[in-house]
Amino acid sequence: MSEESYEGIPRNKIPWYPSINYEKCISCGKCVDFCHMGAFAFEEKEGKKRSVVKNPNSCVVFCRGCEDICPAGAITHPSEEETQKIIEKLKKAKA
Ligand code: SF4
Ligand code: SF4
Repeated sequence: MSEESYEGIPRNKIPWYPSINYEKCISCGKCVDFCHMGAFAFEEKEGKKRSVVKNPNSCVVFCRGCEDICPAGAITHPSEEETQKIIEKLKKAKA
């Protein structure tokens, strides 16, 4: 289900994926239901269920949808500007 490349670059070289701040996360599971790419999963850890970023490379490059629906503001992504720079560098290296 994951994209294998983005603009000709292997997806796994592009560091764009969500991160969960567990200090804020309330384990509501909304991100798991919301992301149709399956980037998140609910896992049991130390007897508690919590959402984890299970498939980071499934995240659509430059999507931030889950940040908006997380009721706790617990999800972040890297800087778009920095990621774009990395993509440009990778493209040049390939050329
Ligand atoms: S939507 Fe936000 S608060 Fe809810 S499980 Fe996901 S990261 Fe945690
Ligand atoms: S940013 Fe979009 S594709 Fe990436 S994990 Fe969130 S909802 Fe899924």
